Amino acid sequence: MNPKFKNLKRIEFSVTYSCPGRCIHCSEAGKGSEEHISGEAGARAVKRLAEIYDIKSLMCFGGEPLLYPDDAFKIFSAGRDSHIPKIQIITNGCFSRSDQIIEKTAHGLLESGCNNVLISADAFHQENLPLETVMKFGILISSLLPGSVNVSPAWIKGPDGDNPYDKKTAEIIKKFNDIGIPSGKGNIIFPAGNAIKYLGEYFDPEKTYINPYEEDPRDIKTVSINPDGSLFGGNIYQDDAAEILENYRE
Ligand code: SF4
Repeated sequence: MNPKFKNLKRIEFSVTYSCPGRCIHCSEAGKGSEEHISGEAGARAVKRLAEIYDIKSLMCFGGEPLLYPDDAFKIFSAGRDSHIPKIQIITNGCFSRSDQIIEKTAHGLLESGCNNVLISADAFHQENLPLETVMKFGILISSLLPGSVNVSPAWIKGPDGDNPYDKKTAEIIKKFNDIGIPSGKGNIIFPAGNAIKYLGEYFDPEKTYINPYEEDPRDIKTVSINPDGSLFGGNIYQDDAAEILENYRE
């Protein structure tokens, strides 16, 4: 086994960079396109990696992953069949205007084995995405997966931050709490993408910010597969995911 991956525990899929949101803090800004991962290729990669590594969690995110629900469901089903214990999605909850599609998608999450739903909601997301739609999805999915749905907000400083964004986010979180959806700790915004452009005044120019998503290249615990199938210089459309990791040397 390639020693860089001896502690590999998590597989992530960026299903697509496409998204109906226009969040000013988005680190994926400018990457938007309709390209999305193939569910079949993603499922194959999950099965291969889970055969070799002790994978504990699988996540789909984006962009907005539920713009391509069937592909996410194929990836989740492969995770469930491979006995990966934690199967997660992070969604902004605004993937369709149709109640019928929202309902079908929520049931699809349950049936494909997703067991943890994180809903991105905060002052930034709700500048463009209607809170009412997000809450409607939240109520539905938490009725199907009770105790396994959380709001996952982005903060500038945190819940007690003395700035207009954090104050507004705290109000939004309370609305979810009031309908029985608790808040996870979320994340503190990292200066990248749109965040540098629009929120620069909130970052300290003297401070070195450490990207919380950066991995130690000698001990990689999470692998991330992109919408075009790329993974560590290889591509899961053409190559076996396990061989890509085995042959990775950089
Ligand atoms: S919902 Fe997520 S991916 Fe979409 S613009 Fe907002 S932060 Fe970016």
